[in-house]
Amino acid sequence: MRAGSTIVKPSYIEIDGSQGEGGGQILRSSLALSLCTGKPFRLTRLRAKRNKPGLLRQHLTAVNAAAEIGSAQVEGNALGSAELTFEPGRVAGGSYRFAVGTAGSATLVLQSVLPALMRADDPSELTLEGGTHNPFAPPFDFLDRAFLPLINRLGPKVEAELVRPGFFPAGGGKFVVRVEPAATFEHLELMERGEILSRRAVARVSNLRRKIARRELEAVAGMLSWDESALHCEEITGGIGPGNVLTLELASEHVTEIFTGFGLRNVTAERVAHGAVNELRSYLASGAPVGPYLADQLLVPLALGAGGRFRTGSPTSHTLTNIEIVKAFLDVEVDVHRQEGGPWTLEVRGGER
Ligand code: ATP
Repeated sequence: MRAGSTIVKPSYIEIDGSQGEGGGQILRSSLALSLCTGKPFRLTRLRAKRNKPGLLRQHLTAVNAAAEIGSAQVEGNALGSAELTFEPGRVAGGSYRFAVGTAGSATLVLQSVLPALMRADDPSELTLEGGTHNPFAPPFDFLDRAFLPLINRLGPKVEAELVRPGFFPAGGGKFVVRVEPAATFEHLELMERGEILSRRAVARVSNLRRKIARRELEAVAGMLSWDESALHCEEITGGIGPGNVLTLELASEHVTEIFTGFGLRNVTAERVAHGAVNELRSYLASGAPVGPYLADQLLVPLALGAGGRFRTGSPTSHTLTNIEIVKAFLDVEVDVHRQEGGPWTLEVRGGER
């Protein structure tokens, strides 16, 4: 350093982790946006609205994964930490392995690194280990069948392959994601669902009786009058720990949506089916192509590209919070309005090119 010169500290974007939803999504979106914009951030009161605030194993894995792909300088990356500073360097595509080490959601770890790898100079292959079908997180099937097909319409080519499922609380799941990046992302317009082309219900059990899956499918058929040919029962062998998940897939002309029921101890198969069917029914009743989970997860990729517009149901607090985080990093306008008595439209304008 020359005598008299001073080190200019980058100015950090200040994020309050207790705002809105006050959970882990604020962290993941901040990591993704910081990597893509090169802007450093300081996040305080991390996950302040959760029972166990601060970084849990899944969040810490996401921070370390983001730091690794983006050669970032990080402070506060420790279990339980309620404050984090993150200063990204250059994002490099390549071959990475990220393991949560518990049953924490590995699909949520992906959320924090995928946007940046979709814009990197080189392709990537990621191996993610942990939970693949966790309550309150995107199940692998949702990622593969609903989210990634929309991402692929933006330009990058991303495919995911399930090696083995991992359920809460045992974990042990694994999947591989291959990313062919694109220099810019296209505009996405998703205003209509179109005709329903196919319906499919898959009930999976791992180290549990097959009868549970059959009862879930019977309940689905009873409530939705779906044909026998739409019902599929799968018994997973070799999984560690017990697990049960029910996936309802609705493929329409312009979008595929996935609704999930998670089997839990002391919850009947019929109740699991009921929960997933209720989600599917409220999606159909909304008349919109985009369900509540897709809505919050599409915001970051749209804001990083040429923007987009979609119809959805009433915006969730995850969606509203994510809008604030996107606006903290990018000069974008996000307009949310409702058609009289009908679905809502969410429009993202003026993203970074
Ligand atoms: P915490 O809030 O405890 O930190 P978290 O890290 O799991 O938990 P949240 O902020 O609650 O994070 O975010 C959960 C994410 O998982 C959201 O993006 C939401 O859309 C997604 N998600 C939750 N349930 C489903 C589901 N059934 N299908 C698809 N995505 C889901």
